[in-house]
Amino acid sequence: MPYRCVWCHSGQASRTFVARERLFGMEGEFEYAECAACGSLQILHPPSDLSRYYPREYDAYNALPDTYYRGWLGVIRSWRDYTVATGRGWLGRLVLLVHPQQDPRVRSLRLLNLAPDTRVLDVGCGSGLLLLIMHRIGFQHAEGIDPYFSSDRPVGGRVPVYRRTLQQHVESQPPPYDVLMYHHVLEHIADPERELRLAQQLLKTGGRVLVRLPLAGSYHWRQYGTDWFQLDAPRHLSIPSVGGMRSLAERSGYTVEYIGFDALPLHLHASELYRRGIPGRQHRPDMHSRAQWREFARLTERLNRTGEADSGVFLLRKGE
Ligand SMILES: [Zn+2]
Repeated sequence: MPYRCVWCHSGQASRTFVARERLFGMEGEFEYAECAACGSLQILHPPSDLSRYYPREYDAYNALPDTYYRGWLGVIRSWRDYTVATGRGWLGRLVLLVHPQQDPRVRSLRLLNLAPDTRVLDVGCGSGLLLLIMHRIGFQHAEGIDPYFSSDRPVGGRVPVYRRTLQQHVESQPPPYDVLMYHHVLEHIADPERELRLAQQLLKTGGRVLVRLPLAGSYHWRQYGTDWFQLDAPRHLSIPSVGGMRSLAERSGYTVEYIGFDALPLHLHASELYRRGIPGRQHRPDMHSRAQWREFARLTERLNRTGEADSGVFLLRKGE
């Protein structure tokens, strides 16, 4: 099949390269192309059985929603999460003075200005932890779908999560949503354009889509190439540049309302360790000194500010 960039539809690749699975050190070589027009990356021959690259240890399904808000630590977390998600609340501000780290998933909710009755669908919700956080801090109309979700049991006993794809969810004819969210999900989907067009059917008029995903064309990609942590072959089937994402969003009937960047220092830490040939499952924070972590944090903060970082946040609005 001839090459066509899934993000901008250009038929020209500037080059191809071979990447390996680095998180678990699984065997195999995977050929990717870089788009000559927009700089997005995509795998040329996806493995026929992708599920074997999502073993039980895969991170998205390992977060422990049931214990996250247990005990006093849970109470402190709920103060902090409310402030990170809304910008309000003095108890959470106090917690952030002591522990300033903010989960970028929770932080991105601030873009949505959620009301208590906003209907939200988290597509590819993994363990459902973000949904549990939303319910705990007062956004009770959030639910999730994930084709690999472990059961149909509500997360934390109260958050509905359905084990299904977006297509199956559309067929179940739920009431329309105000917001659909894709947190590091679109890069795992073979046809992101079909996905975002399908998403239109679930949205109210003027509804919004929040997309967070890795970015090609970033400092991290240029600096580390196939050692880049977020290349994550072969799970990441395609990774857009900022221009590639914009092109796909507009072609699929959305207006791009906001573009931001939320990379973590971890991405530099892990890319450095991949460069040394260490598989991701062996990575430990103490493999870099405190001074090196401070440097990763400084550089990451600068790259997020200048728009060269390897993680993007896009807010799209459905056209009239
Ligand atoms: Zn392209």
